Amino acid sequence: MSKGIDKNTYDAIVIGSGISGGWAAKELCEQGLKTLVLERGRNVEHVKDYPTANMPPWDFKHRGRMTTAMLKEDPLISKAAGYGEDNAHFFVKDKDHPYIQEKPFDWIRGYQVGGKSLTWGRACQRWSQYEFTNPERYGYGIAWPIGYDDVAPWYSHVEKFIGVCGNKDGLESMPDGEFLPPFDMNAVQQTISKKISEHYPDRHLVHARWAHLTKPNQIHLDQGRVQCQARNLCMRGCPFGGYFSSNSSTLPWAKRTGNLTVRPFSVVHSIIYDEKLGKATGVRVIDTNTKEQTDYFARIIFLNASALNSNLVLLNSKSKRFPNGLGNDNGLLGKYVAFQNYRASVGGEMEGYLDSYYYGRNPTELILANYRNLNTQETDYFGGFTTFMGANRERGPAETQNGEIGAAYKDALTEPGRWTVYMYMQGETVPKITNHVRLSDDQKDQWGIPLLITSVEYDANDERMVKDFLTQSKEMLEKAGCTNVSTYENNQAPGLDIHEMGGCRMGKDPATSLLNEWNQLHLCKNVFVTDGACMTSTGNQSPSILYMALTARAATYAVGEMKKGNL
Ligand SMILES: Cc1cc2nc3c(=O)[nH]c(=O)nc-3n(C[C@H](O)[C@H](O)[C@H](O)COP(=O)(O)OP(=O)(O)OC[C@H]3O[C@@H](n4cnc5c(N)ncnc54)[C@H](O)[C@@H]3O)c2cc1C
Repeated sequence: MSKGIDKNTYDAIVIGSGISGGWAAKELCEQGLKTLVLERGRNVEHVKDYPTANMPPWDFKHRGRMTTAMLKEDPLISKAAGYGEDNAHFFVKDKDHPYIQEKPFDWIRGYQVGGKSLTWGRACQRWSQYEFTNPERYGYGIAWPIGYDDVAPWYSHVEKFIGVCGNKDGLESMPDGEFLPPFDMNAVQQTISKKISEHYPDRHLVHARWAHLTKPNQIHLDQGRVQCQARNLCMRGCPFGGYFSSNSSTLPWAKRTGNLTVRPFSVVHSIIYDEKLGKATGVRVIDTNTKEQTDYFARIIFLNASALNSNLVLLNSKSKRFPNGLGNDNGLLGKYVAFQNYRASVGGEMEGYLDSYYYGRNPTELILANYRNLNTQETDYFGGFTTFMGANRERGPAETQNGEIGAAYKDALTEPGRWTVYMYMQGETVPKITNHVRLSDDQKDQWGIPLLITSVEYDANDERMVKDFLTQSKEMLEKAGCTNVSTYENNQAPGLDIHEMGGCRMGKDPATSLLNEWNQLHLCKNVFVTDGACMTSTGNQSPSILYMALTARAATYAVGEMKKGNL
């Protein structure tokens, strides 16, 4: 081996340092592999690089709000949930990272060490067996090569390490896990939960599961994290490590092993395939500052650049053997991209309960586990949806809600007002060959990498699901005693759900899928894709904890295969 190659050679390379890449790094380093993590964005060190974490509203130039100028400069990324003056530095700038929307698609990205783990919403429910089996069973997808039982121990492994709060509810449609205590339900949430169960015995409004340390265990303290302070400032980065991010948890843990090297400002251009060896030997990287190109080598490669960027890297990994992208003999790479349906919500009021207070903030919501199409295909659409729910007291009496000024208004705001309630949907969508991403033939980014074209849209199935969600949710709130219940449809484009998935799906058959049951490319076994790109279907639960579980599972398998000399 030449000196140059030797210097750039590791046991494993991980592309991307976000939620899934952090997990790959942790597992591979812990299991003794010298691991290089390549990250296109800048470094973000836990605590030190959270510049706004402790700022009160009045210290922000615009009190944390967005100005017209900000909206004009970043019209796309500023649509992201929770985006604001206080956390804009954890999102990309529109102009720096163009892509081509053949159909409207809001691609929300955070390019930095930690990726979107810094800004995610932290909802962490497990998938149920139904989500794995029903696409094939009801004919709207191919079979997953694994089922709930294959991932259950890995969910436990992840939950214990990251810390997930929740209640054990014994629901088949939303399995229990290794939970820390949940936050409290307030009085109105308790009533609505009870009333819904009375009227609909198969519907359960319970605590959702969240990656927050309500009562840290030793393993969390060992990571340097402490109890969640319920400040609800999570998207600025949490100096307490109260919620899980790669920066507070997996990356520092991996670093402690002495096996981790993180290289920020390193955009992966492609994976290098050696035809003689019949496997990948490394990756080609462009330094985002100097634009210098360097190759790095390793025995295994984990691709964790987030769903669409992982598709991009694979599509751009062209060789004589794979002229259409790595592992893409069947032409399906980039196809069957799907997302989750966040198009609808309901809101209303609950009269009374004015002697019920709650104290402090609460970074969590309740969830109504999916109740549609579980044991039979019962609706005129495929798939199911979960429903997030909240109930809060407004500040000040109802008549002050339109915004006034003056001392009386300010005084009124010191008193709690009426109760308002809301529900919003998170729905499964059907992966389709027509919903795809591909590379532009003629347009490139500033590093010479082809731009991604997104061609993804909602369909009639989604419209029917929205209708059902709205009818059912309105009816449930009314039966629970709520008044003035209104329905809303936001007509948002796909992508804004920030749960994009697929394009490099797992499956049993190499003719119809790209990855096997261990997330290895069928045709290039030392490349593992364990982020959202691997998803065979979308399910209705928040997906990121599944990416973490699949990553830990695949990493352990990869190390085992290396030890056996198979990789
Ligand atoms: C506001 C918000 C709320 C959310 N709420 C939830 C929720 O409640 N529950 C849930 O499950 N999910 C939620 N998500 C989604 C969640 O953040 C993502 O599913 C998750 O971060 C995906 O993990 P990942 O590792 O695939 O990608 P990321 O965390 O995005 O990390 C990918 C990393 O790869 C880097 N990268 C990209 N391309 C390259 C390249 N070519 N070379 C080198 N590096 C590259 C990126 O810079 C990034 O750091 C939310 C997201 C946001 C923004």
